[in-house]
Amino acid sequence: MRMSKLFVQTLREFPSDAEVISHKLLVRAGYIRKLAMGVYNYLPLMWRVLKKVENIVREEMDNAGAQELLMPFVQPKELWEESGRWGAYGGELMRLTDRHGREMCLGPTHEEIITAIARDGLKSYKQLPVNLYQIQSKFRDERRPRFGLLRGREFIMKDAYSFDTSQEGLDKEYQNMWNAYTRIFKRCGLDTKAVQSDSGAIGGKVSHEFMVITDTDAGENDVFYCDCGYAANSNHAISVLPAGANVTGNWQTPQIIDTPNTHSIEELCDFLHIEPTIIVKSLVYIVDKNPVIALIRADKNVEETKLLNAIGGNEIRIAVAAEIEDIMVQNGFNADKGFIGPNGLKEYNGVPIKFVADKTVTDMKNFVIGINQKDKHGVGYNWGSEVDLPQTVTDVRLVEAGELCPDCGKPLKVTRGIEVGNIFQLGTKYSEPMNAVYTDIDGKTKPYIMGCYGIGISRTAAAAVEAHHDENGIKWPLGIAPYHAVVIPVSTKDELQMKVAEDIYKTLIKHGVEAVIDDRDERAGVKFKDADLIGFPYRITVGKGITDGLVEFKVRETNEISDIKPEEAAEIIITAVTNLK
Ligand code: ATP
Ligand code: MG
Repeated sequence: MRMSKLFVQTLREFPSDAEVISHKLLVRAGYIRKLAMGVYNYLPLMWRVLKKVENIVREEMDNAGAQELLMPFVQPKELWEESGRWGAYGGELMRLTDRHGREMCLGPTHEEIITAIARDGLKSYKQLPVNLYQIQSKFRDERRPRFGLLRGREFIMKDAYSFDTSQEGLDKEYQNMWNAYTRIFKRCGLDTKAVQSDSGAIGGKVSHEFMVITDTDAGENDVFYCDCGYAANSNHAISVLPAGANVTGNWQTPQIIDTPNTHSIEELCDFLHIEPTIIVKSLVYIVDKNPVIALIRADKNVEETKLLNAIGGNEIRIAVAAEIEDIMVQNGFNADKGFIGPNGLKEYNGVPIKFVADKTVTDMKNFVIGINQKDKHGVGYNWGSEVDLPQTVTDVRLVEAGELCPDCGKPLKVTRGIEVGNIFQLGTKYSEPMNAVYTDIDGKTKPYIMGCYGIGISRTAAAAVEAHHDENGIKWPLGIAPYHAVVIPVSTKDELQMKVAEDIYKTLIKHGVEAVIDDRDERAGVKFKDADLIGFPYRITVGKGITDGLVEFKVRETNEISDIKPEEAAEIIITAVTNLK
């Protein structure tokens, strides 16, 4: 490819709406252009990267025994009603109606469609197991599309679905996919950590996410991990609390005391000269439209996904001040935030209030708790006497670094991660409601035992930029770079430089290297800047040194520069590219 012909416009400045480096660099280096919120054009350089990622995924999936197909982007409502997700999937599901009034949706994922395909074709145990996959655009009307390709609304995903006759079969395929994922991300130049995760809207019990570890904002997930191997997303992590916290208050008799202006736990602790470990905190949430109050030891925080799982439902959020006020008024109180407690709270807009207690509250004694009276708290309270322990007692606590590993007891560490892939054991979550069955060896019909396995193709490419860049631009891993190398003649007017550059370029191409020659009549500095920004893994510069038979060879990953012979430089690149295969 000749740089003079390459369709790319690099920008001088970073785009103003970009927060994370991959978004900034991919726009500035001319890879993507925004069309609408969370919807991007993939320009030629980007498309080459995406095809590389796709091809790595395709090769590894095929090698792992999966078969590729392609399902439609638009899906009919009926199948989603069969699975029960038409009502259950939240605002991310983009629904539309055709001219005949039929309801459809843009596929955010394809479990329903693939399950319908399987039930039409896989009728006997003899045809199983099977793993089918596609690489396809998805649409999710994300609440907060941001970070460019990392969280788009339209994005490219590889999604695979396996069908087995037994849990053992599924376990085996799960491991098979795990191994394939490990190879895929390695070939994409990414170090990943597989972590236990919540299964979210996809469903099922066992699931792991493949995380690219980062210390930047681009890592939207907190990952807790331990040297022993334990690793989990914060939405799923559990921990053992270090022993020794004082959870018993000094009041021997229950009483109501004045606690003026103590709107926060800190203010309450200061006022009473106590530790938060003897305060029961009451937090009001709205799950879909229903009120939920979570009780937890006040030095700890609630993990919303865990709370949602404890209650059941689709969307959870903390209640706003106006809702808390309404709840108070409707139950005959006038307290505000800071004084809320379970006693006497019954319903909200006619819906009974649900209570969930985190396990941390169960061994607390003579504790402090809100009683829905402004500027007052109950102290010396105990479960079963002054206040009832809710029926639902479970772990809804957000794990914190330093708490102890549930497997080995050592302190947990925390880091941030970008989820690039996710594998799930679905079991019969879709096959049962959709009556997707096969006839087993014993003549009985049984639902398939399913698994599903996703990789964000576009997110993986962006994550690679997060992991490989410097202040001058992208440093593509060789396996997914749009082009492997750029050849830069310093002066296009210099005949010798041009001839050597053209020769090197042709040699590279002949040996399967995807090369660009920067034939533009531009200053060398401009060409170097663009080369660094675009992120070619190798750069060969043909300048004055060529009169001594030398070119300048630069490796973008390390920024190391050396003066070597043209054929040596070409040889290094050809060998590296050949070794990719
Ligand atoms: P997240 O928690 O980040 O919203 P998810 O867990 O809902 O993602 P999955 O349903 O597991 O996503 O989808 C499989 C893969 O698709 C994810 O691992 C991720 O790489 C990719 N992906 C999901 N949502 C997006 C998005 N909005 N933009 C880009 N890639 C995405
Ligand atoms: Mg996921």
